[in-house]
Amino acid sequence: MKKISRWLLCLLCAVIVISCSTVAFTGRKRMLLYSNSEISSLSTQSYYEFMSTSAPSTNVVKTSMIREVGNRLAKALDSYLAAKGESHLLDDINWEFYLVRSDQANAFCLPDGKVVFYEGIMPVLTTPDMIAVVMSHEMGHAIARHGNERMTQQALSSIVGAVTGQIIGLKTSESGRVLFETAYAIGSQYGYLLPFSRKHELEADEIGLYIMAIAGFDITQAPLLWERMAQAKTTSVPEVLSTHPSDSKRMKNLEKLIEQARKYSNKAAK
Ligand SMILES: [Zn+2]
Repeated sequence: MKKISRWLLCLLCAVIVISCSTVAFTGRKRMLLYSNSEISSLSTQSYYEFMSTSAPSTNVVKTSMIREVGNRLAKALDSYLAAKGESHLLDDINWEFYLVRSDQANAFCLPDGKVVFYEGIMPVLTTPDMIAVVMSHEMGHAIARHGNERMTQQALSSIVGAVTGQIIGLKTSESGRVLFETAYAIGSQYGYLLPFSRKHELEADEIGLYIMAIAGFDITQAPLLWERMAQAKTTSVPEVLSTHPSDSKRMKNLEKLIEQARKYSNKAAK
């Protein structure tokens, strides 16, 4: 049994080495065990489940604002990455932008690139630049493959638990059950249902700021908007903030990144 455990540990180490990659724009090293196409297909299923209980907004003006801002960001990002020979960073991401009827102040992006805004967030987002702040942040989560990374972390902790369980002589059936549940509960555990970690939020802020700059939006709106939303939190808590922690550290981080982001200004290939 000990031999098998050692072999499994070696295999795990090999998987870790093979699965290492870097996050687009920030260069942070991370591990992804799932393929983009796998995640994308789960993501699409999740979208249809969500839409079966939601209705598209009937507000034509706001719906077209969402689409216009989204398409401008997506087009600029696409041509920027294509010019750098890095189009693979968008593999299995097909951007689509929706506005749904709901009083919640929220927005999310599924790993396959479907971005959904709730009507309740629109009163705060009065200009295309403000919409672009939230939109590019959400797109940042998808480009950074944060959903895949979180699933990987969950799966790995279960695998490590299973291997360790064998080493210390726990019943393997128990470890196997945990692994099974982790693998099969993923459909309901990624994307908008679980809040991202603070690290992922700050990274999505950073990537979002660069995408805004590439598409020629006003990046100085980013710290201002999150501050405004944080203030609004004192009266009614916007959902987008309950999963997207906003504090002075976050605002300071964005302000610090403004200069860096200017280097990307209007860098989309014409
Ligand atoms: Zn976020």
